[in-house]
Amino acid sequence: MSNFVELKRQMIEHQMVARGLRDEQVLAAVNAVPREKFVPSDLVEFAYHDAPLPIAARQTISQPYIVALMIAALQLKAEDRVLEIGTGSGYAAAVLAEIAAEVYTVERHKILADSARSRLVEMGYTNIEVLFGDGTLGWQSQAPFDAIAVAAGGPEVPQSLKEQLAIGGRLVIPVGDQIHTQKLLRIRRISETDYQEEDLGAVHFVPLIGVSGWEEEEAGEPTKAKVSTSLEELIYQSSEHFGSVEDVDLDKLLHRIGNSRLVLLGEASHGSAEFYEMRARITRELIEKKGFTIVAVEADWPDASHINHFIHNRSPDPLLVDAPFSRFPTWMWANQSVLEFCHWLKRFNATVVDKDLAVGFYGLDLYSLNSSIEAVLNYLQEVDPETAELARGRYGCLTPWANDPSIYGQLMLNKQYKKCEKEVLATLRDLLKQRLAYSEADGQRFFDAEQNARLVANAERYYRTLYYAEQNSWNQRDQHMFDTLQSILKFRGTVNGVKSKAVIWEHNSHIGDARATQMSARGELNLGQLVREKYKRDNYLIGFGTDHGTVAAASEWGGPMEVKQVQPAHIDSYERLFHQVPTDNFILPLIKPLQQNVRRKLLAERLERAIGVIYRPESELQSHYFYASLARQFDEYIWFDETRAVEPLSRQQNKAGLETFPFGI
Ligand code: SAH
Repeated sequence: MSNFVELKRQMIEHQMVARGLRDEQVLAAVNAVPREKFVPSDLVEFAYHDAPLPIAARQTISQPYIVALMIAALQLKAEDRVLEIGTGSGYAAAVLAEIAAEVYTVERHKILADSARSRLVEMGYTNIEVLFGDGTLGWQSQAPFDAIAVAAGGPEVPQSLKEQLAIGGRLVIPVGDQIHTQKLLRIRRISETDYQEEDLGAVHFVPLIGVSGWEEEEAGEPTKAKVSTSLEELIYQSSEHFGSVEDVDLDKLLHRIGNSRLVLLGEASHGSAEFYEMRARITRELIEKKGFTIVAVEADWPDASHINHFIHNRSPDPLLVDAPFSRFPTWMWANQSVLEFCHWLKRFNATVVDKDLAVGFYGLDLYSLNSSIEAVLNYLQEVDPETAELARGRYGCLTPWANDPSIYGQLMLNKQYKKCEKEVLATLRDLLKQRLAYSEADGQRFFDAEQNARLVANAERYYRTLYYAEQNSWNQRDQHMFDTLQSILKFRGTVNGVKSKAVIWEHNSHIGDARATQMSARGELNLGQLVREKYKRDNYLIGFGTDHGTVAAASEWGGPMEVKQVQPAHIDSYERLFHQVPTDNFILPLIKPLQQNVRRKLLAERLERAIGVIYRPESELQSHYFYASLARQFDEYIWFDETRAVEPLSRQQNKAGLETFPFGI
């Protein structure tokens, strides 16, 4: 270690100062960067030699003196934003980052861009961004720059680089009509249209290859490098990469979501924490920045209603006697990630002055036959005891099966028992007839009761047709979810002249357009399809995926939660493709701005994995994979290469305190 410190001191003294380079700022920056970390391990002993050294992809790390000379020529100030073309090892970028506020660096060899990026992150640089691409085009979205350094020699000064200079900005670039010999030029932009050029002397750089540089063959590079870019690389280039959910920048995603009224957020399993956390992150931003007031999830109405009361700071509703999410699969909503999100919602609502802008939490699903019946009866008992009596009699038809309604479905098959369709519909009708009278007292509570009565009616049909092949109960469930969503949108109406907007959290299989998957061949539709059909371009569907990690799931319906290992994805799957993209987490648009040629490739059908509340790794291919056309199924896709199981809330532990209400009851 100390050996390198001494070698570095000598390098600065003999190779830089002795040659007349006296810029204190640059020398201090060179002194701050351990060059030995940027050279291949077998060449470490030569790190401070007065020479360029070979790195991967037949490129070089520049001679130390040349790096210092170029940087001195840039005349940097501490607040400057700098663009470097030719990241190579990342060494020059690190020296630049010691002086300037922000450094953007572009490299055309992916292997170099990737290794430089991870090396710089590991070394703790937070003000350097590495882009894989053709640097002769600059970095338009980050322009203008106060300074641009080009670390490879081209035949001319690329026009895009000149245009990306700020007025007063400096561009230092080796230019020459011979491939390996150039003049080092400094070009200063003095006005919108005028540039000044100075010649800083002869230099030898590796060739600048790209649209405004040399062509590959001219530069004598292997033609193999010209082979068309792989799909993994195209995805890498087309996506936004991020480290963790906390620090992901969602501005571009929010821009693409635009004015969509409905944003559907999927999940590839019901038990992976990252999906919940990312959905919470996106939802928070939609609420804060775009005025969304509805969060609707794949949970039952009465359960979600508990949460809704909680986040509105109302006391728990005595009508809702069941603990929320006590039905299998409890971990799907009673988990740490959801808890944190609900607490955020509560804090947010506390800051909202106009009550119409408070966020509501709603359940779209229909599995709560029992507690919905109870909720309707309790409501009626309070507002209209006579009708309550009538309803109790009618719902009595279902009472024997209310705790296990699938038995009702089985019995309906052989027609031994009377069906309860008429009865449940009559109760709903009675309730709706009194809408005006009832809701005058409390519109929110009437809405709650109405949705429960609708749920009972739809659940009756759902269970009754569960075992009839020709009557698709899946469709009834998704139709119920869609109808419920519409009721909520209507109930929340318009705020300040703007129609209410909703974020929906459901499994990918509900929110990705069914028409793009094998489901549609079975005559199945889903929420995503219904939303697209009705709301045209007023919606945005986002799918989620993962390759491996752990997941919370059961082995069979009603079984205990287990933490299971997610198998690495199948070779023919989208998941495998995304696993091969050389970055762990990314956000990938599947419609514009995604380029047509990439989109076309992502339209081709592949396997896609769906893990529900049950996961059977042993029979994964049969039980969890289906064919889909991803770019048709979703508008956007969010990838986490590795995910971890959600952390279920321990009800016992929480029983003690109100701290975690409503989960703790
Ligand atoms: N600054 C680097 C020196 C790298 S040598 C260091 O400190 O290590 C020049 C680099 O420019 C090579 O890695 C080469 O692949 C890259 N390069 C050449 N043409 C390019 C282009 N059009 N866009 C981006 N990088 C390019």
